[in-house]
Amino acid sequence: MRDRWLIGGAWRGHDHGRWLSVRDPASDREIARVPSAGPDEALACVNAAEQAAGPWAECPTPERAALLERGADAMERDARRLADLVTAECGKPLREAEGEVRYAADYLRSAAHEARRLRDEAFDAGRPGVRTLAVHEPIGICAAVTPWNFPVAMLASKAAPALAAGCTLVAKPAEETPLSAFALAEILQSCGLPDGVLNVVAGEPAEIVGCWLADPRVRKLTFTGSTETGRILLRAAAEQVIRCSMELGGHAAFIVLPGADLDQAVAGAMAAKFRNAGQTCICPNRFLVHRSMAPAFTARLALAAAELVPGPGSEPQSTLGPLINDAGVDKVRRHVQDALARGARLVCGGQTHPLPGRPDRFFLPTVLADCGPDMLCFREETFGPVAPVMAVSSSDEAVRQANASPWGLAAYVFGPSAEAESVARRLTCGVVGVNEPAPSNARAPFGGVKWSGYGREGGRWGLGEYLTVKYLAIRQST
Ligand code: ADP
Repeated sequence: MRDRWLIGGAWRGHDHGRWLSVRDPASDREIARVPSAGPDEALACVNAAEQAAGPWAECPTPERAALLERGADAMERDARRLADLVTAECGKPLREAEGEVRYAADYLRSAAHEARRLRDEAFDAGRPGVRTLAVHEPIGICAAVTPWNFPVAMLASKAAPALAAGCTLVAKPAEETPLSAFALAEILQSCGLPDGVLNVVAGEPAEIVGCWLADPRVRKLTFTGSTETGRILLRAAAEQVIRCSMELGGHAAFIVLPGADLDQAVAGAMAAKFRNAGQTCICPNRFLVHRSMAPAFTARLALAAAELVPGPGSEPQSTLGPLINDAGVDKVRRHVQDALARGARLVCGGQTHPLPGRPDRFFLPTVLADCGPDMLCFREETFGPVAPVMAVSSSDEAVRQANASPWGLAAYVFGPSAEAESVARRLTCGVVGVNEPAPSNARAPFGGVKWSGYGREGGRWGLGEYLTVKYLAIRQST
């Protein structure tokens, strides 16, 4: 297990006495002490990335793509070890962690595939005697800042297209989950990634990222995290006028239309809501269910939720892991209490599930009925296993409610296909699952609108975020 930074191809640490204590959220035990980087190390990362930038941009695309494909193979071979690490750091059940590792490997393959297909584009600009071309070039040094809830996949979704495009990278994982990021970097290094192309440090976020965004050599920021932090980083990024891809908070609506297949809708709600104990930015936060279906949907969802088994992600029977930390539990509790105080009805859950010798972070799957837009859980992301259900009278009302949020990342619509698709097209967000609870896919454009940010990850859209287009107007010399 790597517990040091990767800078310029060397695994380094210091003894300044500043450490990050990486803890297993299911036991609160320290699993590693990682030296906490600051401005010196941040600068060393950019220096290394700058040194590596020229040769990496000139490396033929098929070679860069082949390296990523070897990386994907290596991740899949090593999936169990990586999944153990993900579970140990962020708590999700092992089966989900293995799914995350495969999803991350897919980002490597998708970026490799798209990079191989990149061509200069000749176009007709209506200029006789002038050949006009759009040529793709790597943006340059990119800074990646990632969250704890998908510690491998979020870095892979950024590193893969950046590296495929020919950019070099300085990356900072979340303080809670640096080990998975180091493991991914180590795998890429073992597959032949040249020194300095990917540099990863963990530590004091504002110091490290502040240093990167003030450095004119860094030409792009790619960020996944909260909207509040996103705003801080965007302000800083304005100084050097750099490109930004911002994947910020979500507040997904889950709409159930009249005539929806209840089995399908309940199974979809279970899959979308309780993954990672509700701690993903595309987890539904607001269930908008047609009045005719709301009682049955709510009752069946509660029955299905009661079958989840709360427990440490490392134990095979667990299907619902702990929340990441005590602050996460407090927020969920606050949202539930607020909803109950404002007239919601508790159908199941509503509290933590004590497990002997373990921290009080296992929040029971919770279903709330009779919810409304004034409740905290309808206004902010809960980031926990809470499904608040509001009955609506029409598709129009569901669309209006869904679009009333300042966020716009994902949504789900369950119902007869044609009607559900038509509702999906009216939603102001970046991703919609139509009778589909798991739309995330490394080949698809993932990202949001409004306070959920901008830019897309995955497929050719993801690759495009790391390329700049140069226009060449070429006339024959005389
Ligand atoms: P979350 O609520 O999911 O933890 P954050 O936005 O706080 O979301 O964190 C996402 C990432 O942003 C993490 O890598 C974290 O270290 C980083 N981060 C948080 N605050 C700052 C900041 N002020 N400057 C730079 N990075 C930050």
